Amino acid sequence: MKIALCVKQVPDTDDIKWTENNTIQREGVESVINPYDVYATEFALDLKSKVPNSTVTAFTMGPPQAQDMLRKVMSLGCDDAVLISDKKFAGADTYATGRTISAAIKTVLPDFDLIVCGQFATDGDTAQTGPSIANFLDLAQVTYVQDLIEVNEKYLVLSKILEDGIETVKVELPSLICVMPKQFEPKRPLIDGVISASKKEIRVCTMEDIGLEPQMCGLKGSPTYVSRAFRNIANHNAQKFKMNVFDSAKLLKEKIEG
Ligand code: FAD
Repeated sequence: MKIALCVKQVPDTDDIKWTENNTIQREGVESVINPYDVYATEFALDLKSKVPNSTVTAFTMGPPQAQDMLRKVMSLGCDDAVLISDKKFAGADTYATGRTISAAIKTVLPDFDLIVCGQFATDGDTAQTGPSIANFLDLAQVTYVQDLIEVNEKYLVLSKILEDGIETVKVELPSLICVMPKQFEPKRPLIDGVISASKKEIRVCTMEDIGLEPQMCGLKGSPTYVSRAFRNIANHNAQKFKMNVFDSAKLLKEKIEG
């Protein structure tokens, strides 16, 4: 099974700053692998261990320093990695990001069976990138994936989280999944993995390499316009009530109805 894994570098979450253009300030800020992508990586590597002759190729769209994160996922067991990087990608919204990553996957791994994404990135937090990639590649997608129940070369059986329960879904390959975190301590790389990852070459894809035009990517290819970005200020005038669930429901109803 050929697995494409999408991972994103995000600013250390306690330290998000905005530029004057309402985009996230990334220069000079410590970056980490998106926490959801740690679980997506584990999920992809678990699949690899269950299906003989599988490979995992990690993709990230980001600046050159995102190579550090790619080396980290290779040290955990990913076979190779692709950095999608070009100044023309700057200012991309989720639509342009989805188009760019899908073009890179199509170019580098045209015969992929599965694309694994995290459910959210902790900075942008839209959860749109995975579905956008699926849309550009015309793939079935399963979001909010919790667990793998069955896997073979033709399909996956997965459990996915719903608001009011868990659903079991069977999806034929090729397809795309977005993975939720699980209750376990993610693996740490072993020294052998770190050494072998440090020797591997990371393929870099520019806009020309993946066959896109300037108007299809970056700010020019982004239909979204951010007019304002701000932090939600907590309401410090909140009142606390200690009561049972029936009385609190009654009180809430009264408050809503004014
Ligand atoms: P989500 O959709 O929440 O991420 C879900 C999953 O998708 C992740 O777990 C991961 O598996 C995958 N994924 C997401 N992004 C990537 C990636 N880059 N590479 C590989 N996998 C990925 N950001 C900038 O850095 N610079 C800008 O100038 C900029 N300009 C923007 C302008 C506009 C108008 C808008 C709307 C956004 C802009 N952004 C910019 C944010 C950028 O579009 C998002 O960071 C990006 O599209 C991913 O969306 P998200 O963070 O909501 O990720």
